[in-house]
Amino acid sequence: MEQLDPRDLYAISDLLSEEERMARDTTARFVDERALPLIADAFEEARFPAELVPEMAELGLLGSYFEGYGCAGMSGTAYGVICQELERGDSGLRSFVSVQTSLVMYPIYTFGSDEQKERWLPDLAAGKAIGCFGLTEPHGGSDPSNMKTVAKKKGGDWVLNGAKMWITNGSIADVAVVWARTEEGVRGFLVEKGMKGFDAPEVHHKMSLRASVTSALYFDDVIVPEANVLPGVKSLRGPLSCLTQARYGITWGAIGAAIACYDEAREYVKDRELFGRTLDHSQLVQARLAEMGRRITAAQLMSWRLGQLKDHGKLHPTQVSLAKWNNVRMALDVAREARDILGGSGITVEYSPIRHALNLESVITYEGTESVHQLAVGREITGISAF
Ligand SMILES: Cc1cc2nc3c(=O)[nH]c(=O)nc-3n(C[C@H](O)[C@H](O)[C@H](O)COP(=O)(O)OP(=O)(O)OC[C@H]3O[C@@H](n4cnc5c(N)ncnc54)[C@H](O)[C@@H]3O)c2cc1C
Repeated sequence: MEQLDPRDLYAISDLLSEEERMARDTTARFVDERALPLIADAFEEARFPAELVPEMAELGLLGSYFEGYGCAGMSGTAYGVICQELERGDSGLRSFVSVQTSLVMYPIYTFGSDEQKERWLPDLAAGKAIGCFGLTEPHGGSDPSNMKTVAKKKGGDWVLNGAKMWITNGSIADVAVVWARTEEGVRGFLVEKGMKGFDAPEVHHKMSLRASVTSALYFDDVIVPEANVLPGVKSLRGPLSCLTQARYGITWGAIGAAIACYDEAREYVKDRELFGRTLDHSQLVQARLAEMGRRITAAQLMSWRLGQLKDHGKLHPTQVSLAKWNNVRMALDVAREARDILGGSGITVEYSPIRHALNLESVITYEGTESVHQLAVGREITGISAF
């Protein structure tokens, strides 16, 4: 009988279109050849490898699922496999592409004016401009309805005051999509680098997502012209719809991080000789690898199905919550298991599991913590909001 591919036990690859397989393989090659050789050092140095941005843009990885504006117009499933391969490299790379695509380009594409789209989307797709998304505030990200950042109308402009916290790409962004409370409801503001009263200092001393920029955003009477306000939405539905898109990509990305750790564990046990035999002969080790394979396969099936729903315009936020919860928990557990199977070697960045495990501590918290997604699924099942 034919030997199964340990990374693809249910042959999900066969369910992908030719274009989706090509997107996956091109991204995989970029990650293997360009990202993996530098990512461990970048992580240790707490440095985002910005030199990779033009190449990611060249490959069509920024805004891959939009039509026009220099975007590749690929399927939602292609975006998924791109996220998977990027996060096989590092969660920081996938976070960059998630934010640029789903948290910055998506709201401009969906809720922006024609002028805003023309002004920003081609540059964001080409990597000539970088964006960030400001929703979380210092007093508690899980409850965005308790938003304190406010914008007040003054003549033809708006005056913005408040603070955002834990913002990916904040200090390197040319444009920040900032969500603020107004008398008309929650609105999205395109705050540009250099606007008076706007500051974006970087957060240092992170032990997770070290190859990614995380920042605070401060707004002190920032004057934002009406032309920079997204006209298409006036409620929390705006930012929440962006998060659904980004979380969908995270469900795939987590699979990539898990596969990197699973690959490394499978290789390691082939050579590590203990008690007169290599570790792969141990029943306990085989059970642990089998458990990884089982959980990765279940996650692959969930994300593939979500891709189908997204491509048919039927994606439900609670379905995304279920998979974000399942897949990130799976990846974190797989990374910790792989770290342990590697013994002492597993604590160095020479091997990827400790880096992935540390990164996944952020991934399980951002874009809705595990508890928040459990509560979302619980609400769907019972009809009762227990937040
Ligand atoms: C590296 C990184 C990058 C990020 N990037 C961005 C970004 O680009 N843009 C952005 O807007 N945000 C970003 N975030 C913020 C992220 O989304 C928030 O950290 C997250 O939503 C949690 O908010 P919090 O940190 O304030 O924790 P809190 O909301 O204070 O939660 C603390 C704890 O309470 C639990 N909890 C909350 N509510 C309940 C409840 N009802 N019942 C039981 N338990 C509950 C949570 O699960 C958690 O364990 C980023 C975060 C990190 C770490």
